[in-house]
Amino acid sequence: MTTPIGPATLDAGASPSGPVPHTPVEGELHLVGRRPTVTVDVGRVKVGSRHPVVVQSMTNTDTADVDATALQVAALAHAGSELVRVTVNNDAAASAVPEMVRKVRGLGVAAPIVGDFHYNGHKLLVEFPQMARALDKYRINPGNVGSKHHDTNFTTIVRAAIQNGKPVRIGVNWGSLDQVLLTSLMNANARLPAPLDSRDVMIEAMIQSALRSAQLAEETGLAHDAIIISAKVSGVQDLVDVYRRLGPLCDYPLHLGLTEAGLGMKGIVASTAGLSILLHEGIGDTIRVSLTPSPGGDRTEEVQVAQQVLQSLGLRSFLPQVSACPGCGRTTSTFFQEMADRIGVYLRERMPEWKGRYPGVEEMRVAVMGCVVNGPGESKHADIGISLPGTFEQPVAPVFVDGALRTTLRGERLVEEFIGILEDYVAQRYA
Ligand code: SF4
Repeated sequence: MTTPIGPATLDAGASPSGPVPHTPVEGELHLVGRRPTVTVDVGRVKVGSRHPVVVQSMTNTDTADVDATALQVAALAHAGSELVRVTVNNDAAASAVPEMVRKVRGLGVAAPIVGDFHYNGHKLLVEFPQMARALDKYRINPGNVGSKHHDTNFTTIVRAAIQNGKPVRIGVNWGSLDQVLLTSLMNANARLPAPLDSRDVMIEAMIQSALRSAQLAEETGLAHDAIIISAKVSGVQDLVDVYRRLGPLCDYPLHLGLTEAGLGMKGIVASTAGLSILLHEGIGDTIRVSLTPSPGGDRTEEVQVAQQVLQSLGLRSFLPQVSACPGCGRTTSTFFQEMADRIGVYLRERMPEWKGRYPGVEEMRVAVMGCVVNGPGESKHADIGISLPGTFEQPVAPVFVDGALRTTLRGERLVEEFIGILEDYVAQRYA
């Protein structure tokens, strides 16, 4: 199947391909309404519209440091990253990859490992064949394979993928957009009677870069279902526009994410905003949240954010959710916040064991509420909830299970007693 090239405004190419028939997996509501795609097998993780949206992440260690990279891959996988990408930027990194992958597998981690290539991927994948075999997917940035021998370098990487039976992600990034293509589109635009805004030309260049590269990969012999596409930008509006336009033009699975999302809350909010709009529209088959960690910060935060985005949208469930009110003048002590926090931490810590023993527990809803105003009502809506006493209320805390009052707690050991009830509930309900 050949790949279409974008809208007719600039350099019109082939007509868009028809979508493949979409057959949602029975009983999996999260698959309904997805943009139809082929399925790409990345080291046994299936990416595409017939499968749940895959969470992925990337290490920030020096890949040549085998131990540090293996440990971080394992940490990201344990946090829930279903694919983990590592930089392969030089000979030292390339030669370290096979040993690093062995160590990761030795740690009992099966998550597929993806190599991220820029500038020299065509050389490294040829000169380090064990590395090419050890990785589960190659990421190619068509803007970073060199302008002089662009197609030769690009097809060398594709041939390595074909020989080793690996899929690729064609990952276009606006910070490293193919300048030859962009310039030619800018020139074509300037000749139009009513030229487009330069932002529109940039978006068009990203889309064309991705789709032309995919077409070249297929012409080189790569299977249609061995290609994933991404077109990353750092602004939410741009991200939405790029993917909304790219989506209907092909049936490759799409990797979503803001590039350079940024630090802390800004990065989390911007990523959530952009991803949510697209995922809600059924666009996107794998996501990465590109947070900038604070120095020494926890790299797995990006995995937690990605999971929370999917769970908040009702697309997947990873972890029991704690509903807690924001608190107000009716609850002036910090006990309520502390208890909500402790229950959240407890649930996260218990999940590795619960997940195997109690199927469905990840969909449990727990409420920890601050006073009588909304406490009993919210607790009844949850699977299990506790309504703490607000200021001047009687020092009692009713606990609701499946919408009915189970017991009323009082005294100093509210958290421990509530956790005991929670454990019993999980064992009975999800066994
Ligand atoms: S439930 Fe009570 S404490 Fe919590 S926000 Fe509402 S009124 Fe305030």
